[in-house]
Amino acid sequence: MKLKLHHQILIAMILGAGIGLPLNILAGMGKVPESWPQTIAMYGKGAGDVFLRLLSMIVAPLILASLVSGIANAGSLSGLRRMGARTLAYYVSTSMIAIITGIITFNIIQPGANASEALQKLNAAAATTGVAAGNQSLATTMWNQVFNLIPSNPFAALADPSNKSVLGVIFFALLFGAFITVVGGDTGARLTKLFDDAFAVMMRMTMFIIKTAPVGVFGFMLFATAGAGLSVFKALGWYMLTVAIALSVHAFVTLPLLLVVLARRSPWAYFKSMMPAVLTAFSTASSNATLPLTITCVEKRAGISNRISAFVLPLGATINMDGTALYEAVAVLFIAQVSGLELGLGQQAIVAITALLASIGAAGIPHAGTVMMVVVLGAVGLPIESVGLILAVDRVLDMYRTSINVWSDSTACAVIDKMESRRSDTA
Ligand code: ASP
Repeated sequence: MKLKLHHQILIAMILGAGIGLPLNILAGMGKVPESWPQTIAMYGKGAGDVFLRLLSMIVAPLILASLVSGIANAGSLSGLRRMGARTLAYYVSTSMIAIITGIITFNIIQPGANASEALQKLNAAAATTGVAAGNQSLATTMWNQVFNLIPSNPFAALADPSNKSVLGVIFFALLFGAFITVVGGDTGARLTKLFDDAFAVMMRMTMFIIKTAPVGVFGFMLFATAGAGLSVFKALGWYMLTVAIALSVHAFVTLPLLLVVLARRSPWAYFKSMMPAVLTAFSTASSNATLPLTITCVEKRAGISNRISAFVLPLGATINMDGTALYEAVAVLFIAQVSGLELGLGQQAIVAITALLASIGAAGIPHAGTVMMVVVLGAVGLPIESVGLILAVDRVLDMYRTSINVWSDSTACAVIDKMESRRSDTA
């Protein structure tokens, strides 16, 4: 009997943590040399990175083929515009709900109020070296989003090794697909066929690479558990708990509710279909790298058409990051609280809006959200160096928030699918 992929991934995760965690604890107690967990962690990271690289390799061609074919087959431009507007509105709304969940949870738990002395010293050191970033970065951030959208050269965007220009690729592919339908006729049919065929091949390639997921996931779990000591969890425990609780509320209450009400789907059944993608997101901490799996799960396991998923998912992996948005807000409120700065309602609102922008701008790669946090810190006049305070636990939180990002993209896909099918029923 062959094990299902998500079971294989789950076992790989447990195995990785089962080896990494005890090793780290034993080294902490001095029972094994300290270098052991670090060495093992590096081997794990290597194995994980190979898997990540394989996935990165297919992201750009997969998005291009999938989007152009999806859009070219979508039919009318007005239909596309409608789907686009709905998707964007839905994305912004869920991210905002996530941020509000985070802020409420923060205000209940107040994780920085009982900060240990060690933590305050750490922060004081970070603060004195800091320079206030000022308020002007809000406008800069907004314009940067627009510039990110329009690639100065679409071929360069496609060739960007960091996959950070995905937004540009999406924009160009959207236009290209749309103009295939505008030109139509023989040309339109030939180009549509070409991209349909390319997409079919890319999907097969993706499915082939996905088979190696358990090995990569095992490596990453080993890396995360053997490498990160347990001691940091103690200092930042309340903060982690706040982020984790808020993320869980979003993942297990808000999004399932939306699935039931708007998509009329059973959240549990849908979650099971998405499991390989969500687990891969957890271990790779990259929405972009997970994208091939997300597309496969949505189409092959949840039965949603390529027309919807080709548009909703690549866009979501780039701009819809509920987990990241929530995390940005909580992290900045936490840093402010530890610094003895009480943020009023107005300033919390500024944090909420900049967190939303920062999450839209964050690339779907590990730690991207942490980098973008500079913008949110700047908006409330906190020194950017204070990011250092929470870096130690960032990987773990990154893993969790990335799974929420992917879970949210997947639920969006089901919701938009329902809305679009309702519309074609009545049309
Ligand atoms: N790692 C996240 C993602 O790929 C982004 C982040 O750092 O929050 O979705």
